[in-house]
Amino acid sequence: MSDNDTTPPTDEFQKHFSDLLKQANVKFMFSGQPEPETPEASPPEPDPHPQAEHIRQFSLKPRDVKDYLDRFVISQDEAKRVLSVAICDHYNHVRRCIEDPEVGERDYAKHNVIMLGPTGVGKTYLMRCVAKLIGVPFAKADATKFSETGYVGYDVEDIVRDLVRVADGDADLAQYGIVYIDEIDKIAGRGSDGVRDVSGRGVQVNLLKLMEDTEVKLVSQTDMLAQVQAIMAMQTGAEPPPQTIRTRHMLFIVSGAFDRLPEQINRRLGRRQIGFDNSNGHPDGESSELLKQVQTSDLVQYGFEPEFVGRLPVRVAFGELTPDNLEQILLQAEDSVLKQYKDDLAGYDIDLSFTAEAITEVACQAHSEKTGARGLMTVLERALRPFKFELPSSGVPTLAITPETIAAPEECLEALLLENRETENGRMRQEAKAFAERFSHDHGITIAFNAKAIEAIVEASRRSGKTVRTVCETRFHDFEYALKLISRNTGKTEFTITKSAVENPDKTLSRWITKSYGRPGDGRG
Ligand code: ADP
Repeated sequence: MSDNDTTPPTDEFQKHFSDLLKQANVKFMFSGQPEPETPEASPPEPDPHPQAEHIRQFSLKPRDVKDYLDRFVISQDEAKRVLSVAICDHYNHVRRCIEDPEVGERDYAKHNVIMLGPTGVGKTYLMRCVAKLIGVPFAKADATKFSETGYVGYDVEDIVRDLVRVADGDADLAQYGIVYIDEIDKIAGRGSDGVRDVSGRGVQVNLLKLMEDTEVKLVSQTDMLAQVQAIMAMQTGAEPPPQTIRTRHMLFIVSGAFDRLPEQINRRLGRRQIGFDNSNGHPDGESSELLKQVQTSDLVQYGFEPEFVGRLPVRVAFGELTPDNLEQILLQAEDSVLKQYKDDLAGYDIDLSFTAEAITEVACQAHSEKTGARGLMTVLERALRPFKFELPSSGVPTLAITPETIAAPEECLEALLLENRETENGRMRQEAKAFAERFSHDHGITIAFNAKAIEAIVEASRRSGKTVRTVCETRFHDFEYALKLISRNTGKTEFTITKSAVENPDKTLSRWITKSYGRPGDGRG
């Protein structure tokens, strides 16, 4: 449409444009549209930054933070201690800056953290728990996603925008958030072959700026929706949303496995070559011990710029998780994956339990997966998946997991279903007999089902999904009247109910009645 084109917009265009503006939270009307009703009194203005209050009230001590983390994160005591101190120092400083802006202008070395250690040992989990405790937003990205220029892939500044997104657009809260960048070892400025990697170095320089103090534009040039939002806000005279966010108070945490580092530290220490687990080349416990002795020079030699390493003053090495630790994670950690499985099955009224030996077996198998605590999920999923599919529609009320279940889940499931069917069949047979006894007692005429009749009732109940009692009450509804009539004709008071009587009750009854008139004394079907 040109500027002076007066053709009214099509319905489709109006809808598309209105949707876009609705997302941008901007009111707009096409001429000719009825004006929407506006409420008379506007509700009281809510506190625009209720969450940032957490920071203003921050009063936790390192021991409080560690106690909280102990509830969720097993082992990694040293990491929990070091991080508790770093977190308390950081947020105490932030609180002081908020109270007195002059403090904020003084030089201050942030407590950014570098975490070293294998995958799945609790690095991310620990930081998530910390962020939740303090009540600040938390955003995570993999360093491998970043490109130096941002033209291809993800710009380092995007993670800051992610933080604002996680904070539901509250930039005031996001500026105190925690940015976590995993796989930082992949941007070492030297490849595994020792060749200088220029793009990795470029990403380090960009990250360095973020870790210090910089202003990040909240609206990316390519974000159409945000552009429309800004223009419309200007036109309506509303206060424009903040354009930038400062990274000065954000806490930056980076982590990586640093596969080549233990051997490198070992060489510096002048020791013999360390042993590696042959199965897949993962560092063994010795490697974690070596990582604890990391120095700035080791990281620089690994391929990091000295300025970059300098901005990460807090260093923590995470240890590998032993089978015992994995067992503790299952049994003691709040939010344990075991609890999740129990809740899943409880949703179908199935009570899931594990023997102590089964827990040990799960932990051992998970340990050999070499993926830390992630192995627990792998092993449990492999063992429980067939049960989770079959049991909800089987009527099995309990599932007790033993080491045999973990070793051969399919066979155990089959045996359980068979056993359950037998138990169920026994219960249903008893229900059929109970019906016959009730009938005899209530009506003064004795009936008894023969074996084949009972099986037919059980089968009918299974097929229809109705209880045995309902099946019997429906099928033998007319028996009271009919059998009393036959009894009057023949004097017989005891009747055996056969399979054909169960399958064709009306036909059987009419045959018996006819017989009772013709041949007195014969009441059998
Ligand atoms: P990474 O060290 O690779 O960042 P994560 O922290 O993401 O690993 O761990 C994956 C999952 O394993 C977590 O979500 C958590 O459920 C569990 N987990 C890992 N380590 C621990 C631990 N030490 N204590 C309790 N749970 C853990």
